Amino acid sequence: MNEVIMYDVLILGSGPAGLTAALYCARGGKKTLVLGGDRLGGQTAGIAVLENYPGWAGSGLELAEFMKKQAESFGAEIKFVSATEIAGDAESAFNILCDDGKRYVGKAVIIATGASPRRLEIDGARELMGQGVSYCATCDGFFYYGKDVVVMGGGNSALNDALYLADVAKNVKIVYRKGAFTRAEDVLRNRVSERENIECLFNTDLKKIAKTPDDKLVITTTDDQEIICDGLFVAIGHEANTDYLSEDIRRDSMGRLIPSELPRGIFVAGDVESEIKMQIATAVGTGCSAAMDAIAYLNQL
Ligand SMILES: Cc1cc2nc3c(=O)[nH]c(=O)nc-3n(C[C@H](O)[C@H](O)[C@H](O)COP(=O)(O)OP(=O)(O)OC[C@H]3O[C@@H](n4cnc5c(N)ncnc54)[C@H](O)[C@@H]3O)c2cc1C
Repeated sequence: MNEVIMYDVLILGSGPAGLTAALYCARGGKKTLVLGGDRLGGQTAGIAVLENYPGWAGSGLELAEFMKKQAESFGAEIKFVSATEIAGDAESAFNILCDDGKRYVGKAVIIATGASPRRLEIDGARELMGQGVSYCATCDGFFYYGKDVVVMGGGNSALNDALYLADVAKNVKIVYRKGAFTRAEDVLRNRVSERENIECLFNTDLKKIAKTPDDKLVITTTDDQEIICDGLFVAIGHEANTDYLSEDIRRDSMGRLIPSELPRGIFVAGDVESEIKMQIATAVGTGCSAAMDAIAYLNQL
């Protein structure tokens, strides 16, 4: 039988939140194992040029590789496996079952499994991701200075994206399948209606996307309008990556984890945490905070 190693902290996720938590826990003298999911860096792995993480001027993946080395230099271990179930509790230790068929045991758990933008599943959307189709206005808006963009969605995220882009792009069209922005806050609705360069197309949806020969996007709507633009920003919600957790653990309306609702000994950081602004800087900040809470918890056991 394999010997079961007892870790002080098991960290789920190797995005910026998980890697920051690993650095703090390992440097704080705790035996730390990161169960890093299927790839290093999480969402940062898809960021070719990272321009808004202070002090960094490379790609998102390069940042993650640097963070990984830094955490490992203090003794953190990293395995690229995904959690499928968390069993046990603070009294008996936590058992995390993973997709390699093994279970990993720890006294505390930090959940940093991120959230995935809900993907647009229409013709052309997948192929054109990163070539005109984006899921992050604050990240990619900069590339559309003086250009025409479309935002898809009608909730707070979509209206926030449209307002952000209206300061950058020439014209912004919001395409929303319902007749009004009933899911968005009044303050955002009012701001959108006051902006001269934002136009709202209601009661229509996107059907397909393609590229024109001069590298623009041509978007066909369900009522057969054709919109020619430079970029499409999809804001149809995020899904927190928490499938492996018990349904009994309360989530917010976006499926994200509320720190005060977690069982004793389990901490949360990054995009999977309720109320967080989904950025690398906040993931790093909450990763640090969760690690410090976990260390204080372990020290009083
Ligand atoms: C295209 C794109 C561009 C972006 N550009 C920017 C930008 O320019 N600037 C910026 O600040 N932010 C940007 N963001 C947002 C930023 O990447 C995220 O806010 C940040 O990565 C969140 O970090 P995280 O560690 O919380 O989660 P993630 O980065 O999502 O990492 C989650 C980790 O959890 C792992 N995981 C998932 N499920 C499991 C499981 N069951 N078991 C174990 N591990 C699991 C994943 O493999 C991954 O390693 C961008 C996002 C996208 C999608």
